[in-house]
Amino acid sequence: MEDCLFCKIAAGEISSTKVYEDETVYVFKDINPIAPIHYLLIPKQHICCAAKITEENSSVVAHIFEVAAKIAAAEGLSDGYRIVTNCGANAGQSVFHLHFHMLAGVKMGWGAEVVQSAE
Ligand code: AMP
Ligand code: ZN
Repeated sequence: MEDCLFCKIAAGEISSTKVYEDETVYVFKDINPIAPIHYLLIPKQHICCAAKITEENSSVVAHIFEVAAKIAAAEGLSDGYRIVTNCGANAGQSVFHLHFHMLAGVKMGWGAEVVQSAE
């Protein structure tokens, strides 16, 4: 898709620090990490967000989770890791190409950080 940052990263048109790649999935380091390990796992095909996962395209999502498990095993993340996707404005999605954040290397709290209360 034109003018999509993560489509361009997946195509190698914009540089990134690659962690893993296969025919359908690309994994790279987040440019602004919030944990010692912060990878982004993306489908190479453009899907804007989790709300657009369908029966037709969902197999790549299953594959992304398989890839995450392989990365975790390869990097020895036996203390655990978190995978999260932000979908839409209230969740803070800033890049509208489906991506899963993989976070590890630190003990994490849990909860939604509220930046603006609902009216
Ligand atoms: P989200 O806010 O959930 O849409 O996440 C988008 C993520 O993409 C953020 O964590 C950014 O730090 C990250 N990001 C933005 N541009 C780049 C880039 N050029 N290379 C790597 N990560 C990026
Ligand atoms: Zn895209």
